Formats: sequence, C-alpha cells, structure tokens
Amino acid sequence: MSKVLRKITGSATSATFAKAMALEATGKDVVHFEIGQPDFLPIDQILSATVAAVQEGRVKYTISKGIIELRKAIAAYYDSFLIDSVDYESEVVVTAGGKLAVYAAVQSMTNPGDNVVIFNPSWVSYGDIVTAAGAEPRFIAMGTKFSFNEADLRAKINCRTRAIIVNTPNNPTGAILSLEGWQLLHDLAVEHDLLLISDEVYNEYVYDNNEFVSLGAVANWKEHGIIVNGLSKTFSMTGYRIGYSLTNAKLSNEINKIMQLTASCAPSFAQYAGVTAFSNIAQMRVRLQKLMQPRRKFIIRELATIPGISFTAPQGAMYAWIKLKNESDSVRWTDTLLESEGVAVMPGVAFGPDGEGYVRLSFAREQTIIQEGLKRIRRFMVQR
Ligand code: PLP
Repeated sequence: MSKVLRKITGSATSATFAKAMALEATGKDVVHFEIGQPDFLPIDQILSATVAAVQEGRVKYTISKGIIELRKAIAAYYDSFLIDSVDYESEVVVTAGGKLAVYAAVQSMTNPGDNVVIFNPSWVSYGDIVTAAGAEPRFIAMGTKFSFNEADLRAKINCRTRAIIVNTPNNPTGAILSLEGWQLLHDLAVEHDLLLISDEVYNEYVYDNNEFVSLGAVANWKEHGIIVNGLSKTFSMTGYRIGYSLTNAKLSNEINKIMQLTASCAPSFAQYAGVTAFSNIAQMRVRLQKLMQPRRKFIIRELATIPGISFTAPQGAMYAWIKLKNESDSVRWTDTLLESEGVAVMPGVAFGPDGEGYVRLSFAREQTIIQEGLKRIRRFMVQR
C-alpha cells in the first residue's frame, strides 16, 4: 500500500455519518446534525434543466476545462466579487466538485518536503489533501473569528512553504475574513512568493449585516491566488459534482491537467444544468436566505439556553461551532450523545488541532428537526 495513503485517515465526516447510519439501522431514531449539505432541493428550473440535458443526450465527455457556456456563466457570476475580472477561456476551469479544485491547486504547487499553511479550525479534507501531495500541513490558529497573530503566521512560513489555504466563510466557525485580513495575507504571499488558495464555497451563506469578501477584492489577486468555489452549496447541487477554479492562465493550465488525469471532465449533463442554475441565481439567493436566516436565528436563540456550552454566532456558512465547557474529549462527547440521545454531531477534533473541545452542528435542517435535536442535547447536558 502507498506510504502516503497510510498517513491518511479518511474523512471524519463520513466516519461520523457511518456511525449514525449504523445506529439508525438498529431502529434508533437519529437526528442528523453532522452532514454538511443543504437539506433543500435545487429550484425547479435546475431540476427541469437536468432532465432536459439528459433527454437531449448531453451525456458524453466534454472538454476537460468545462463547456464554454458554463465557464462564461461562472466568470459573469464572479465579476461582482472581483477587482480584476477573469477570462473564461484561460482563467476558469470547471472541476468535478470544489474539493477536486482544492486538490488540484495543492498538487499543482507542491513537491514532497514542501509545506502548506492552513487556518485552523478547518474543513476536514485540507490536511489530507496536503498530505496526499507528500507535503506537510502546518496549522495556524484563527480562533472563531480569523483572529490570527501575524507573528505566529510568519513563524509557520519557511522557504518550503508553497501555499496558504483560507476558507471564508469558514467551515466550521462561520467566520468571514475581512478585506484588511486579505490584504495582509496577500502582502505576505507576494513577499514569500506563495499561493493563496481561497475556498469560497459558502459565499452565498452570509447572515445579518455581514458581508462576504472574496480574495478577488484584492488588487492583482490572480498572480498569487486561486479562488475555489462550486455549485454544491450555492445551488444545493452537492451530488452534481460541479466545482470551479479562477486563477491566472498558467496555473489554470495546471489545474486542467489534473482534471485530465483524474475525472476527465465534470459530469456533462450537470454542467448544462449549472448554466441554468447561474441564470436563476437571484431566485436561488432569495430561497436560500428565506430558509437559512430563520434557522440560524432559531439555533442561536436556543443554544444560548443550553447549559455547559458556549458559542459565537456564525457570520456565514451553515454551522454552529460550540465549545464544550466541561469536556475536553470531543469524540467521547459526540459518541455518548449519539448512543444515549440519538443525535449525530461532528467532533471538533476532526477539524484539526485547534478544534478539540468543540463540536459542530449543521443547521441546514428543517426547524422542527433542529428543535427536536436541541431538545435532546439540552436533556443530555442537564443530566451530566
Ligand atoms: N470546501 C469546504 C469548506 C467544504 O465544506 C466542502 C464540502 O463540505 C467543500 C469544499 C467541497 O465541496 P464540493 O461538493 O464542491 O466538492
């Protein structure tokens, strides 16, 4: 077996989901807060476009960087977030999910022995993606609000550092990086000749008066940056496997090589449905906000009344990141909660070294389900 793969433990989200499903199979009623995907369907126009694409026979390979209509739609969608816009011919690559775009970016930039800095707590896959490239993940603590210390960050960077991975809005904390924060990172990237990998998959999940700031809001972002996004969260199209990258032509060419080596192309009928998705973005935005705002409000209000925990209201994304006051072992806590109350949540330790002592709940669930889950968590905490 590959020595590199031996170091990779596999997705903690999948492991927690498997435990919950196994318990459910024994007849226990389980409330799922562990899954990081919206529970609602894409809007009807997208579903109809998917059926039409299949019926029209759009089921063959496309070119590896994606159909021109979709690349045009992506470039147009992102234009409002960017200072320097992107050329859909040479600077946009459609990938088979945002995850593959992150993987491709890391593969393109690293050699064995290099390292990549990751803001932590962080999405479960970044560390493994870096390890799979033979590089070393280096975690930098960002608290619950991107409150990193510049000196600490500089101390992580050496001559083998190739990239910094930033995820804003952040999974799991919901924190959004400010323009000043981006400017500081960009200056560092220029100084050390690094790549900023900005994972922006939750950019439409932003609440109250908070505002999403793309890496693209920084002048000359393309020379030292790559933006990763996808249709999974924006349009609730997780199973379609459509992601994309935006960056300079040279790096886009390398990302496209990874597409050729791996998926060949993103699913063709899904790409056509994606074009329809972007042409209905206004409607999807309204739907998303109408569904998610009340759920977030509800979970913030209810969590504040549960003993033994504390949390910060998320600015974006779809998660409540909760500190356990009297428990330092998040796996033990989540396992006991699942077994005794049938509530599945993610242990914080899965999100890297700074996640221990926390748990993550997804609130992309119907309010009645959130209510039932929180009722059980409250009972669990009161009994402890
Ligand atoms: N990036 C982050 C931060 C995520 O949370 C996820 C999925 O949960 C992804 C990327 C992957 O998304 P996709 O379905 O586009 O591969």
